[in-house]
Amino acid sequence: MPASKPVDISEADAANELMRLAREIAKHNKLYHAKDAPEITDPEFDALVRRNAELEAAFPHLVREDSPSKVVGHEIAASPLSKVTHEVRMMSLDNAFSAEEVEEWVARVRRFLSLDEDEPVAITAEDKIDGLSCSLRYENGKLVRAATRGDGQVGEDVTPNVAHIADIPQMLSGDVPEVFEIRGEVYMSKADFHALNAAQEEAGGKLFANPRNAAAGSLRQKDASVTAKRPLRFWAHGWGAASDVPGKTQEEVVRKIEAWGVPVSPLFTRVHDVEGMLAHYDKIGRERADLPYEIDGVVYKVDRLDYQQRLGFVAKAPRWALAHKFPAEQAETTLEAIDIQVGRTGKLTPVGRLAPVLVGGVTVTNVTLHNRDEIARLGVRPGDRVVVQRAGDVIPQLVDNLTREVEREPFIFPDHCPECDSEAVAEEGEVDVRCTGGLICPAQRTERLKHFVSRGALDIDGLGEKTIDQFFALGWLESPADIFRLRERRDAILALEGWQERSVDKLVDSIEARREPDAARLLFGLGIRHVGAVTARDLMKYFHELPALREVAEAAHAGDEEAAQALTSIDGIGGAVVEALGDFFHEDHNKAVWDDLLSEVSPPRYEVETKESPVSGKTVVFTGKLETMSRDEAKAQAERLGAKASGSVSAKTDLLVAGPGAGSKLKKAADLGIEVIDEAGWAAIVAAAE
Ligand SMILES: [Zn+2]
Repeated sequence: MPASKPVDISEADAANELMRLAREIAKHNKLYHAKDAPEITDPEFDALVRRNAELEAAFPHLVREDSPSKVVGHEIAASPLSKVTHEVRMMSLDNAFSAEEVEEWVARVRRFLSLDEDEPVAITAEDKIDGLSCSLRYENGKLVRAATRGDGQVGEDVTPNVAHIADIPQMLSGDVPEVFEIRGEVYMSKADFHALNAAQEEAGGKLFANPRNAAAGSLRQKDASVTAKRPLRFWAHGWGAASDVPGKTQEEVVRKIEAWGVPVSPLFTRVHDVEGMLAHYDKIGRERADLPYEIDGVVYKVDRLDYQQRLGFVAKAPRWALAHKFPAEQAETTLEAIDIQVGRTGKLTPVGRLAPVLVGGVTVTNVTLHNRDEIARLGVRPGDRVVVQRAGDVIPQLVDNLTREVEREPFIFPDHCPECDSEAVAEEGEVDVRCTGGLICPAQRTERLKHFVSRGALDIDGLGEKTIDQFFALGWLESPADIFRLRERRDAILALEGWQERSVDKLVDSIEARREPDAARLLFGLGIRHVGAVTARDLMKYFHELPALREVAEAAHAGDEEAAQALTSIDGIGGAVVEALGDFFHEDHNKAVWDDLLSEVSPPRYEVETKESPVSGKTVVFTGKLETMSRDEAKAQAERLGAKASGSVSAKTDLLVAGPGAGSKLKKAADLGIEVIDEAGWAAIVAAAE
């Protein structure tokens, strides 16, 4: 945990920082709680919250209406689950990160209660599991409702979802008050988390960042049968609304809950002073790595319930409880090498290979270095001593370089792809370096093939993602041209499981139907960066033939000013496209793929046939949702009818085609007296012309 900066800033700066923090914290809160997809580690998040608290303490008059200190958890985003208002608000906990803060807290409690120096105050201590808070309402011992914490006041109803969690009994056994809400955490064990992620990866599903997100994502399902398949656990640590509280201390009630059949932390204990608290914290810290579940600290509570009552709450948290967080775990080691991995989109990601080091009980051998800038920022080179940090189950990070000052050759980021040796470039203003060998790069090939056959490109039926993966693995699909040679593998395909005469015929037929493809779709299908469907059409309208485009793009890349100008003079074509085309044709591999492909297919000369129509020469704008076609397709139709498709409504607009959900453009068109028709009206114009 890096120490926070002292508050020595001006009021204006503080106000700005508080505004920024409110936004940042709200954003990460939402990613974490509502989307189960955090972008930063928990300690990083805690650091933001602490900085906010520190500034608010120093500038109390600057505390914002939307201050993160007033919010518990997340406000419920558009959720398919129905809402539940908690009868007793679900609180969050104040955090402490050091022994001094724990001591201060105990001293505050004692002062608040005006306890004599020798009067003991018992404290319960238990490990803080990293799960999803849940409130279980039992009436006459029977579970009637389960709800998530939500924003503390209003949560989500997950009653059907918890039905399959064995730790949550439908009936409590024993002498249970008429109404009793048990509060605790739904969580997933480390082992179950890893198994779930492995299964998700196998199935091509979403991977969870950590067990907490896996638990939350599994519980907050509209379809409770999905939850039922996930190995969720629960333990109790408190209670909410209760017609009767069966005990005078926290420990007594927790033991009652346990006796009724609901698990509680096996490490729950009661101590009598700060030494006892810290000793239990250290014990749990030592056992942490071996625990079957993920924890992020220890929770202390004042044991006597009458004391809790007197201490009450401040803002969003009880004064009688404290979460003592574990620091992010760090260790020192040697960075032995920096390897470059190529992702499916061609992005080159540097990975640090470490001399194996134990960080919080886990051996770490790799860290991600994110990108070229991160390497420069840390100034790391192979051989450097570095500090590695690991928090929870997130990917370890390299946080510091201890040998920055030592003279050594700097690390040179590669300018060629390690997988295919194509040039690797970063575009202006971008940090990511990408391989330009899209079509031949093994790291990118299947993605490119999938794009090539997709609806907007060649639109080949029957060649789905799984089939591409399978054929690729068999070595049948090295490049797009191979698709057109699949007919030669007819018998081999037929021998595969799941294929019959009919399905193979269908596949071959749909491939053969694309022997004379639309040149613009073919160009788009090659997946050249910045050459989208519209750009591909703009280019082909100008060049008509693919070889003509290639000739000019190559000339432009070689420095021919005239050629570059010819390209940029085309409507809709800018420098980025010219550069991307140049990079593409500069690669011998790409040229080979291109030649190979054009030996299999023969796109006819590209002409936009403009037909005489009522909209010839007019400017048309499409807005709102189109039901039967994509926006691109609509624009292409307009072009075929000799109309110009524009993106914005102005005095020059002749016709607005408005689908459902049309907003400001529709209003503006009405103000300007422009003719407005719906999608059916447009379809009628198209049908009449064709
Ligand atoms: Zn590559």
